[in-house]
Amino acid sequence: MKDLTPMMKQYMNIKNKYKDCILFFRLGDFYEMFFDDAVLASKELEITLTQREIGNKKKAPMCGVPYHAADSYISKLIKKGYKVAICEQLEDPSVAKGIVERDVIRVITPGTITDLKALDEKSNNFLSSVYIGNRGAGVSYVDISTGEFYTTQYFGNINDSLSFVIDELGKISPSELMISERLFQNEKAMKIIENNINPHIEVYKETRFNLNDCKDKIESHFGNGSIKKFNLDNKDYSIISICILLSYLFDTQKTSLEHINKIFLYSVKNYMFLDINTRVNLEINETIRGKEKKGSLMWLLDDTSTAMGGRLLKKWLEQPLLTKEKIEYRLEIVENFVEDIILMDEVKEALKNIYDLERIMGKITYGSCNARDLISLKNSLNSLPKLKKILTNSGSKRLIDIGSKIDTLDDIFHLINDSIVEEPPISVREGGIIKTEFNEELKEFREAAIKGKEWLANLEEREKKKTGIKTLKVSFNRVFGYFIEVSKSYLKLVPENYIRKQTLANSERYFIPELKEMEAKILGAEERMVDLEYNIFVEIRNKIKNEIERIQKVSKIVSKIDVLNSFAQVAYKNDYVKPDLNDDGIIDIKNGRHPVVEKMLEENTFVANDTYLDTNKNRTMLITGPNMAGKSTYMRQVALITLMAQVGSFIPAESGNIGIVDRIFTRIGASDNLAQGESTFMVEMNEVSNIIQNATENSLIILDEVGRGTSTFDGLSIAWAVIEYINENIKAKTLFATHYHELTQLEGKLEGIKNYTILIEEKGEEITFLRKIDKGSTNKSYGIEVARLAGINKDIINRAGEILDSIEGNKEVKNSVEVKDEVNNKIREEELEQLDLFQYKGENLINKLKNLDVIKLTPMDAMNILYNIVEEA
Ligand code: ADP
Repeated sequence: MKDLTPMMKQYMNIKNKYKDCILFFRLGDFYEMFFDDAVLASKELEITLTQREIGNKKKAPMCGVPYHAADSYISKLIKKGYKVAICEQLEDPSVAKGIVERDVIRVITPGTITDLKALDEKSNNFLSSVYIGNRGAGVSYVDISTGEFYTTQYFGNINDSLSFVIDELGKISPSELMISERLFQNEKAMKIIENNINPHIEVYKETRFNLNDCKDKIESHFGNGSIKKFNLDNKDYSIISICILLSYLFDTQKTSLEHINKIFLYSVKNYMFLDINTRVNLEINETIRGKEKKGSLMWLLDDTSTAMGGRLLKKWLEQPLLTKEKIEYRLEIVENFVEDIILMDEVKEALKNIYDLERIMGKITYGSCNARDLISLKNSLNSLPKLKKILTNSGSKRLIDIGSKIDTLDDIFHLINDSIVEEPPISVREGGIIKTEFNEELKEFREAAIKGKEWLANLEEREKKKTGIKTLKVSFNRVFGYFIEVSKSYLKLVPENYIRKQTLANSERYFIPELKEMEAKILGAEERMVDLEYNIFVEIRNKIKNEIERIQKVSKIVSKIDVLNSFAQVAYKNDYVKPDLNDDGIIDIKNGRHPVVEKMLEENTFVANDTYLDTNKNRTMLITGPNMAGKSTYMRQVALITLMAQVGSFIPAESGNIGIVDRIFTRIGASDNLAQGESTFMVEMNEVSNIIQNATENSLIILDEVGRGTSTFDGLSIAWAVIEYINENIKAKTLFATHYHELTQLEGKLEGIKNYTILIEEKGEEITFLRKIDKGSTNKSYGIEVARLAGINKDIINRAGEILDSIEGNKEVKNSVEVKDEVNNKIREEELEQLDLFQYKGENLINKLKNLDVIKLTPMDAMNILYNIVEEA
């Protein structure tokens, strides 16, 4: 340290405070990295690694990126899971005495990145924190690009708290998660979190936080009385988790964060509960295979026109509602749109021009917004009066009501419209962004600039005439400023008072004192004009910042309209209907379809099916049918239709009366958690156990092939016991697909269980899937037929047939060598038999021939005898 240059000393002091970050150290027009940071960044960013003298003839590895292109490099590092600390020059190097003051102005992490190019516009980027105590847990999360802040808490023992946390995190999918050292040491929980969510993890020390300090911190940011205002009294777990987030934001962001001005407290009890497996199994956000958006429910239902609407839709799908009135409110608006497609499309058109107001506001508070963002804001605001008018003239009470709540923000529109030019440059520091008429002083500067230009033109004319040099030109460049240029052929005519400045191949450049004086005036004015424009811009930005709550309110309304309009668009295109809702626990669907599978198949080939479930005699549908018949599709379809209805969307059916369910559980297929070190069967049993513990009589349970992961008798017994328990004790509505046809005996024995099967048609060895569900059961699994359809080799299929026959006939299954021997023996026996026959017939014939009296035979007799011989042979 002693030998280091002063600048490197400064670097080391700063780096010591940000050891876990890559430090971007501003040097002029570059951000430089040194030592290990440089080695790492040069590799990750594929940029050249160089060296720099750091004192006492020693050198350090170094690499750098230009500051104006830094965003994309930073995003790249963040995506790879690093944190980047931005260290700026805090004073103008040209006026600094000694070494320029520098410090970190912001730390960028996966959960706090605000570069819009790095963010998915239709997803929130959440930074989340978890606090688990002995009697409960709190989960909070914030999206600093939009300003949304949420918190929820739970009371229960440590295990239940842990499942609550994991299920909430499954819903939030944070890109960065703050957890305590204690949770970090819980291997099982960490594996689930890493495998299913995989956020960047920040570990905090629990001892750093105590309740009273936390309360103070919250009130100091959100204002006095905010704990009460946001209903956080007694929500101690939430309070601590909020404080953990806030502290991290203050440490890393170092700005005022004024757009984060509300905390939204919610209770998981107010929404349909979906555990982490169910979210995955129902493919709400992405498909199980391939983890793609295409093929998910989100993909199907997203016809939103704004990024804000896209994000809200995602949130709604993650939190279906439980109250009939609230769901009906959404459904009725969707219906208003579907019933008037002109209205529906007009609203969509108006929404299309609205940019991401929430994220623009985020940029405004961060001070990172430029004039182009303000023009986007203006263009968005320009659509508001139109949207408001369409809604208030719609004739629908609900839409009129929403429309009348839209604040069209005319003042902000006019402020931007009057001040910012239509096509401003990206940079806010080089002028050219403010309209001349907006500011008197600016106007004077601009007029002076015009006068200056005129003056230069006059000078050129005057000198041309005076000297007789026809090609004389007054020009400008950044190095020499203004000069008079004369081509070589006219050099003789150059007057004495011209002072030579530069010689070029074909010309000479001169100046005269008069020109230099004017230059100082023009350039000085330009510099001041650029400063003035910047100051005006900042003033406008701050004025808009003061109106942040109004803009946030409008954003909320716009996103809501957008999602409901999207539901309507999708319903209209796909022929969905408005569901009826009931609180009696009846799910009655006529000709329901699986919304995604239907889309993936050729048009009109999906076979619709009915569903009837209630709380009494039809609680459990026990579904048998061959593999590939469509059991899974059918069961998921019922779950998805229910979920869609409770989100407020129309449903893919001819009609549907949906009894609101409090939770949906699914246990489908062998979700491959082997990476978590558990066998398939263990995973299956864990999931079943979770369902049994948490399901209520108002839940909907989907169980696909429970017991498959173990031996037949074990599996059958477990499946049997599980279905009995759910039907008798929990009484939840359950769809249970099984290949154990023994279970069909339960119908009639236990009230509530009804057998169903998915029909197939058999023609000889061929089977056709009819995809139609019907009452009854099947005891044939058609596995071999399905294997044949799948193209399994003929020998195996035939052999499987033999084995099946033996097993079904209660005979010993012979191995293939034994069967071959058997077949060979049989062939040999048959051959011998034929040989015997032949010998016997031959001897007979010879005897017959010997006994013939040939002399006496007429030709006719001979013919008849011959005929008989042929017949016998
Ligand atoms: P199972 O669970 O009985 O093995 P799946 O539900 O996985 O069968 O269905 C197998 C395939 O059959 C699906 O991928 C889908 O393409 C098709 N399918 C299922 N149900 C239907 C239906 N109702 N109409 C048309 N095709 C269907």
